[in-house]
Amino acid sequence: MSGHKMMFSGLKLWTKGISRPAWISRFYDGMNGSGNASFSTCSPKVCIVGSGPAAFYTAQSLIKNVINTFTQTAKHSRCSFYGNVNVGKDVSVKELQQAYHAVVLSYGAEGNRSMGVPGEDLAGVYSAKDFVGWYNGLPSCRELSPDLSCETAVILGQGNVALDVARVLLSPIDILKKTDITQPALEALAESQVRRVLVVGRRGPIQVACTIKELREMVNLPNTRPDMVAADFEGVTEALKDLQRPRKRLTELMLKTALEIPGEKEKQNKASRFWGLRFFRSPIEILADPDHNRTAGIRLGVNRLEGSGEGARAVLTGEVEDVTCGLVISSIGYKSIPIDPSVPFDSRKAIVPNNMGRIEQAAGLYCSGWLKTGPTGVIATTMNNSFDTARSMVEDMDLGTLDVSAAKTGSQSICALLEKRGVKPVTFSDWEKIDTVEMRRGEATGKPREKLLTVEEMLQVAQKNN
Ligand code: NAP
Repeated sequence: MSGHKMMFSGLKLWTKGISRPAWISRFYDGMNGSGNASFSTCSPKVCIVGSGPAAFYTAQSLIKNVINTFTQTAKHSRCSFYGNVNVGKDVSVKELQQAYHAVVLSYGAEGNRSMGVPGEDLAGVYSAKDFVGWYNGLPSCRELSPDLSCETAVILGQGNVALDVARVLLSPIDILKKTDITQPALEALAESQVRRVLVVGRRGPIQVACTIKELREMVNLPNTRPDMVAADFEGVTEALKDLQRPRKRLTELMLKTALEIPGEKEKQNKASRFWGLRFFRSPIEILADPDHNRTAGIRLGVNRLEGSGEGARAVLTGEVEDVTCGLVISSIGYKSIPIDPSVPFDSRKAIVPNNMGRIEQAAGLYCSGWLKTGPTGVIATTMNNSFDTARSMVEDMDLGTLDVSAAKTGSQSICALLEKRGVKPVTFSDWEKIDTVEMRRGEATGKPREKLLTVEEMLQVAQKNN
């Protein structure tokens, strides 16, 4: 470990949310672990905006690589957490930069990509982001109350989020009851009439974006049967030999699921719910019922592929197909949004332009996670990209391109600013009170936790006995 890391004496983590926070972190003043002479007398103070994996992994990497859980990172003596702080509104990035030697933006991808098709605003059309937020207890999605009174749901996109949503829509309620899905969502899902879920991709089986674990979970879902179109898999068996191992295994599982001839086992299968992957289809229009009030179907454009392999492009053929459905969930990816006009932002790619986590033309400003790379990859990808950002920052300190020579006020001045503005940050021990209450409430019903569903409720719990 470099001497510089040893000199970091603390992190402050600030967040907009409470139970799912966003972070600001900093290194405390005062402690000097290594005595390494290349630093000035003050310890670097770093602020991380965000509270997801990217924020925590960046923080973890900057404190000490051996710390292996987010809780340990948050409770580390050189790290502090501030929730309920909305960066860009309660405090600006410029103000943070004045108070800290470095600021890392790790606030993820809160926006959706929109389909851009007519009818997208009809009742019965939801973004996967909101739908997932609803069943996971995100306060901003509490009011979604999706209408689950139809038989067929269409999910657009074939990534892991699409499969997560399909699984929740079709899982037996007894399974869902043991998860931390919120009580209102459980009640709605228990009443759901959805029996058939189609997960629609614009390209072919070889291009699906999901991973094998999530597909296997769908295949193994009790009381549920796959319903694929064998013709979609023409030529796929022959293409297997050219695929890389993870893609090959995924495609083999899909082929097996699609082409298995329904036999005796199937007849005995009492499955009452169905799911299917549909390929070579792009959304063209959401079709309304005769009153033009709500979703009655979706018009899909039939595509052909140009090129081959993972880079193949979907091109509309002009042919269309209408599918009757009462629920459409768009799961075509998340996107980051700019939170402060002073931070460079590439609107086309929806990322902050950066070089290994160093935000371009903004000294002292860094990024990690989906804001840095776009919304791709599993948790290990985010971990590595966050460690890379932390490494870039340490290199800059070594080289002197990140100036840490002057003492900085850190959280002291930011806390004073927030107090003046009437903002009450939530500390990590406050958050632990929320966590304890949620877990206790869950025990009563045999769930891992029963989430608090409003920010007000969370603040009440957090501020008890303060
Ligand atoms: P994703 O993996 O990027 O998948 C997006 C899907 O939407 C793809 O099938 C894509 O097709 C399709 N799409 C994009 N634009 C479209 C358009 N205009 N019209 C039609 N289809 C379009 O995104 P995600 O599912 O939101 O997941 C985001 C990231 O989180 C992924 O890296 C995922 O693996 C990760 N994640 C992981 C887990 C887990 O580890 N369990 C769970 C959830 C999410 P094309 O391929 O043709 O672009």
